[in-house]
Amino acid sequence: MAILKALQHTVNIHAQVKTATVYTDSRITLDSLKNTNIHTALVEEIRQQLMELKNMQWYIQFCWVKAHVVILRNETADTLAKEAATSTDTPESCDKVPKGVVKSELESLSVKEWQREWYKSPIGQNTKQYFPDIAARLRSKIKLSPKITAVLTGHGMTKAYLRRFHMSEDATCRCGNEYQSMDHILFHCGKTNAQREILQQQIGTWPASKEELITQYKNQFFAFIESIDFDDLNV
Ligand SMILES: [Zn+2]
Repeated sequence: MAILKALQHTVNIHAQVKTATVYTDSRITLDSLKNTNIHTALVEEIRQQLMELKNMQWYIQFCWVKAHVVILRNETADTLAKEAATSTDTPESCDKVPKGVVKSELESLSVKEWQREWYKSPIGQNTKQYFPDIAARLRSKIKLSPKITAVLTGHGMTKAYLRRFHMSEDATCRCGNEYQSMDHILFHCGKTNAQREILQQQIGTWPASKEELITQYKNQFFAFIESIDFDDLNV
């Protein structure tokens, strides 16, 4: 979805140099775009958007980056599409992106500006609940795992997500709840009660907001996430 949003945003940019790089951590999407046998709604929409941009003389390239970079970048996909379009020193090598991104591009965007974009952007609502403040996000050191990434971004590992992308027919959780969202698994699901009780005992206060969990109780919260068997819940 972030790719599509970034492309849609690019259509409205009036730049002299019509070159943009889309950074994504979704290998599946990149592979699907290349595979002409794949015609899912999302892939088709992205292809159509690319065709429109091509007709407008845009040159769009894709670059895969590791997930830990993308948490920062996906959320500001439209800002960065703009940056890439107007910047003369767009990184050419994908391998250098993580360093280039964190050290120069993102730091050169003022944090305030980024925060403004962050609030405006419809992308990453879930991540915003954990990180309403960009400056705090930049300060916090987080070692990401697949599970933690899924929780913070809201992408993947739930049946609601699988259904949204037509990979599952229904979103019913194993506990019987008919909508297995990430919030359901973390905060309400009967199947994760035991793990949640341990977290509650450790932090001694409940309920806790997502922001509190990520700032004050990060280690306990991450241990809780890692203790959840998402594969088992998705059966
Ligand atoms: Zn459940």
